[in-house]
Amino acid sequence: MKKLNGSCLCGKVQIEVPDDFEYMGNCHCSECRKFTGSDYSSVGGLSSDKFRFKAGEDAVSIFQKSEETELAFCRICGSSLFSKKLKTSKHNIRLGILDDIPTHKPSFHIFTSSKAPWNDITDNLIQFEKGPVK
Ligand SMILES: [Zn+2]
Ligand SMILES: [Zn+2]
Repeated sequence: MKKLNGSCLCGKVQIEVPDDFEYMGNCHCSECRKFTGSDYSSVGGLSSDKFRFKAGEDAVSIFQKSEETELAFCRICGSSLFSKKLKTSKHNIRLGILDDIPTHKPSFHIFTSSKAPWNDITDNLIQFEKGPVK
């Protein structure tokens, strides 16, 4: 399985995941927008046991957003790295930190009901007003 490397802006935090995302999409929820400082956040999800730190784990700070979600960022440069879903044991990697090109591409938009008003979605990907139906 091909590996994908990722890193934060300052380069201190280095991560590695297999090129094996279970899903990939764009989240427009207000919390992702705040946390990433972007119109929306593109993430790829996989089982937490497939996620590995290569370096800099000691530079990672965790913000516990809710009972089931932790948000990880580099405390030196502030880069948003991933969210960790504690109940489902998934890591949602912010695609912006990847240094390699994943095989998959985002295939959906979620929480479009809270998207940035200036952001027009112009692609044909499936849209969910809230979370995806499972
Ligand atoms: Zn950093
Ligand atoms: Zn979100």
